[in-house]
Amino acid sequence: MKIFCIGRNYADHAKELNNTVPSEPMIFMKPATALVKDDAPFYHPDFSEDVHYEGEIVLRIGKNGKNIQESYALDYISAITIGIDFTARDLQNKCKEKGHPWEIAKAFDHSAPVGKWLDFQAFSGKDIQFGLQKNGEWVQQGDTKDLIFSFEILMAHLSTFFTLQQGDLIFTGTPAGVGKINIGDSFDGFISGQKLLHCAIK
Ligand code: ZN
Repeated sequence: MKIFCIGRNYADHAKELNNTVPSEPMIFMKPATALVKDDAPFYHPDFSEDVHYEGEIVLRIGKNGKNIQESYALDYISAITIGIDFTARDLQNKCKEKGHPWEIAKAFDHSAPVGKWLDFQAFSGKDIQFGLQKNGEWVQQGDTKDLIFSFEILMAHLSTFFTLQQGDLIFTGTPAGVGKINIGDSFDGFISGQKLLHCAIK
């Protein structure tokens, strides 16, 4: 199982971190050991003083595909949920300064909690509203109509380089409102008003 992540896929988030908006999808990956399921808590790692939450729509691949055409791309998605792309922002900034890869800042153990899965069929081809609450207050609210690269473009682009396999996940990028987590915080993730994810920081 592979976990793909897309960086800077909402212009308002690229702007809040003073990043340029990319001309093609920016891809990175997390290993299977990053995955957290069933609302298990997230234990704050000791190696970072500035872990950020990034609430994102996550897609699950339903069948294998390579060089997928945009017009058929949505047929390869079986399920959708919300997840958090936990990011050690202090380590990421150091990596960026040195021009080094991001793995230690993005792909560490338990950096990818995902919520309860919904059948993708009901959402296919529609604008999808999603959001993240921190301690009961909205911190992020997004709409897929604001995606820089649509799900179809992401699927086509990813499958040029990587065979997409059944069960692979795609974190599709975060809207504005990212911020630091603290021990004791709790996060709830929603799609179309439905709560799918709970994550307590311990
Ligand atoms: Zn992200």
